[in-house]
Amino acid sequence: MEKKFKANILDYDSDKLALLLLENGFEKYRLAQIHDWLWVKAVRDFDLMTNLSKSQRQFLKDQFEIFGIKIDKIQTSQDGTLKIRFLLHDNLKIESVLIPVLEDKRYTVCVSSQAGCSLTCSFCATGKMGLLRQLTVSEIFDQYIQVNAICKEQYGQGLSNIVFMGMGEPLLNYKNVVGAIRKLCKEQELSSRRITISTAGIAKMIKKLADEDLSVNLALSLHAANDEKRNEMMPINMHNNLSALMEALRYYHRVTGSKISYEYIAFEHYNDSDQDAKNLVKLCSHFPVMVNIIEYNPVIGVDYVKSTDERLDHFARMVRRHGVMITVRKSRGKDIDAACGQLANQD
Ligand code: SF4
Repeated sequence: MEKKFKANILDYDSDKLALLLLENGFEKYRLAQIHDWLWVKAVRDFDLMTNLSKSQRQFLKDQFEIFGIKIDKIQTSQDGTLKIRFLLHDNLKIESVLIPVLEDKRYTVCVSSQAGCSLTCSFCATGKMGLLRQLTVSEIFDQYIQVNAICKEQYGQGLSNIVFMGMGEPLLNYKNVVGAIRKLCKEQELSSRRITISTAGIAKMIKKLADEDLSVNLALSLHAANDEKRNEMMPINMHNNLSALMEALRYYHRVTGSKISYEYIAFEHYNDSDQDAKNLVKLCSHFPVMVNIIEYNPVIGVDYVKSTDERLDHFARMVRRHGVMITVRKSRGKDIDAACGQLANQD
């Protein structure tokens, strides 16, 4: 027989929860205590909420469940990158990645926003899974909590940055991504300036995010600097072409003043020519932007070949010559399944 779940307290409407608790004899100050357990201390077991009475804990257990996310598998790369696979309450798998930059004492977590993804970028393992479902606010929030705990244990300090660059397109799970960011900023006291949303490029949603009063950084997964190639690699571009995206990003920059960057995976003889570099330079003239060239992590069943170091360095030099800020990021976690979606796809 299929297991019946009670409501998940983490995603239960807060006004409804307050009403239910007050109607059932909880004192008003208990609401703040429960909120504190769930979102500040991020405790995921009613029995550990020790300042509540036994009968109150029992009431909560009778009414609700807590759908936490469980660590299912961890892969550790020689370069220190940790890939963590989480199991959700319905047995779906998602991934987060902890990327330490020891010399700068910078620890970044890359979180997932969806289980799978509905976009079908041709170079991506997650895109091949299709969209399984949206992640809830708490499933996004808890990736930060759990990876932060791992980071403290391993490196003696917590995470410094969050990037929404794992599985899924964050702007297609807009409400929950924004909800999780608000919770992280308020309850875990994170600065939104340390948070980056990476998007495949949905012009309408970029403008909506600009009006959200969140001021997170925005990264566009650009990967090709002309529409023809971008349509081929990222079908979302057919309805959100580069001109629409430039307009949306200009708006985002004007309204938020936040950092904008382009992510650009270099593929050999596909998007790493001198002409590609010139096209990229043109796209850097609309607002201040930083370009991150990323080395490709090959995915089984995908034909793209990563650029050689020589081509990559030459491409970066061409772009830099025009005054564009550009970094070349060597791929992290090469010896593990570091490309997005590869670990979650395994048994
Ligand atoms: S690259 Fe991002 S947006 Fe594209 S299919 Fe993969 S997860 Fe989805």
